[in-house]
Amino acid sequence: MKIAILSGKGGTGKTTLATNLFKTRNQGILIDADVEEPNSHLFLKPLIMERITIKKGYPVVNAETCTLCGACGDFCRYNAILPTKKKVLVYPELCHDCGGCQLVCPADAIQYQNRTIGNVFYGKMESGLSVAYGDLLVGEVSGVPIIENLREMTDKEPLVFIDSPPGTACSTVAAVEGVDYAIIATEPTPFGVSDMKLVVEMLRNFSIEMGVVINKAGLGDQEVYEYCEEENLTILAEIPFSKAYAKCYASGGMLSDEFPEFREKMEQILDQIIKD
Ligand code: SF4
Ligand code: SF4
Repeated sequence: MKIAILSGKGGTGKTTLATNLFKTRNQGILIDADVEEPNSHLFLKPLIMERITIKKGYPVVNAETCTLCGACGDFCRYNAILPTKKKVLVYPELCHDCGGCQLVCPADAIQYQNRTIGNVFYGKMESGLSVAYGDLLVGEVSGVPIIENLREMTDKEPLVFIDSPPGTACSTVAAVEGVDYAIIATEPTPFGVSDMKLVVEMLRNFSIEMGVVINKAGLGDQEVYEYCEEENLTILAEIPFSKAYAKCYASGGMLSDEFPEFREKMEQILDQIIKD
């Protein structure tokens, strides 16, 4: 079973939820697909055993054979290749490595070269549980190839927890595609609700079953509860705001180790999702 933990925006407790659910269940693998800002490993503290460099292709144009016909630029949806009157400009960091410009080039003037865009790290916790995370290099726009590599790593795992990127961009889509269940971490504020609506819409487009965990319950207003009722969304748990929780998180601690009542909440969520 693959369970994604995601949120409309950062800072809603997504990683806390993902790491503590994983540690409470004490089974499977956790992958941190939030490759722009991975931090699950800071809490789970795996011993890194393997590092994989992730590369992505980009087009290189042979000026000798290029006729400056413009077909590659017309094809590219990402403005990564731009024919001008004198030469073809290429912006490797915008390229999604789709291969299309080479296919449409009538002069066979395009070849591809690889460049490093980030890394995947794989390790084990003291308990033997596996953890993997991706790290996108600064300045790169798409972490999708890194997320795909992380997902391939979990193909044969019976239970996978995915700490997804926040929002609904391509990287989030890559992280949640094909998961069996999605947990949305949100908070009871108007911002929390508006960002969450987009996530719900995206998950419905993929027909992914979902539930909601409300963090910082007790602060804010009722809007998130009203929205969940209107949309028939299951509230899996409410986690109250606590200064002691915030302090533990800030020092890199695991709430499920320190607070029995928090661990019970994690068990309550897992019981609703995983049917043994
Ligand atoms: S499609 Fe090929 S020939 Fe035409 S501008 Fe691009 S690289 Fe040059
Ligand atoms: S490979 Fe695809 S994304 Fe990259 S420049 Fe060519 S058409 Fe654009």
